[in-house]
Amino acid sequence: MTANNLHTLSLDGRSALITGAASGIGLAMAQAFAGAGAKVCIADLDADKAEAAAETLRAAGHNAIAVAMDVASEEQVDAGFAKTVEAFGSVDVAVSNAGIQVISPIVDLSLAQWKKMMGIHLDGAFLTTRAAMRAMKASGRGGAIIYTGSVHSHLASVLKAPYVTAKHGLLGLARVVAKEGAEFGIRSNVICPGFVRTPLVDKQIPEQAKNLGITEEEVIKTVMLKDTVDGEFTSLDDVAQTALFLAAMRTNALTGQSVTVSHGWFMH
Ligand code: NAD
Repeated sequence: MTANNLHTLSLDGRSALITGAASGIGLAMAQAFAGAGAKVCIADLDADKAEAAAETLRAAGHNAIAVAMDVASEEQVDAGFAKTVEAFGSVDVAVSNAGIQVISPIVDLSLAQWKKMMGIHLDGAFLTTRAAMRAMKASGRGGAIIYTGSVHSHLASVLKAPYVTAKHGLLGLARVVAKEGAEFGIRSNVICPGFVRTPLVDKQIPEQAKNLGITEEEVIKTVMLKDTVDGEFTSLDDVAQTALFLAAMRTNALTGQSVTVSHGWFMH
């Protein structure tokens, strides 16, 4: 990092595509990137919410577009990247963030549920990565690819087999991307958040309580926050600031790594 870059994390003149950006963590990243000067593409399965998010950013004076994208669809991912390149000239930052959760013991999990999770989390990450690398190689500007992993990229929890498997898989993909992307100036890193209060987590609290036979309060205290150093949820801002740091830094040294943002849960 040069001295000039130490004072501010700027994405001026750069464009970013974030998947799953109509809600939660992806939306917070989009807001942070736009605030740092980036042109932002909100890509999401929920086209109406994506358009509303882009409209809110435009109303605040930012340059933003929305694309309807199922990350498990090759056609839609490629089209979303093409639309972003057409609108902004390049994709300099790509975040593979879209995700869902299934809470179930393995013995009750259907193959269809397993495949759906792999489709969104792993096919989605591959398709997003390939489209991003092609765009970054073509522009000659390099870029940053960021994956939303999880503390579950590093550890296991009951009832979350497909999620834990997929999130571990992102670490492998990101490391290969770091190696293959280096010659094109492409960096690749994984952010591993602890629990963040988003719709994804709010939905799983009652499901886990039912499966484990404990109260929702107990799920929060004895499952979600028990290993943090301060009993705090990770905030949207905690994750968005980390993403901004990884996106805006001008050094090629930080690549192929995972950064855990979890109030101390899982120290390694
Ligand atoms: P969220 O439900 O608030 O947002 C997820 C977004 O992804 C939604 O807008 C949804 O429409 C979109 N989406 C779902 N399937 C999609 C698909 N096939 N194609 C495109 N978009 C799709 O959830 P969130 O908590 O913000 O989760 C975002 C990412 O963060 C996920 O990968 C999740 O696993 C990860 N994560 C979340 C937490 C947490 O505690 N919330 C912790 C660690 C990692």
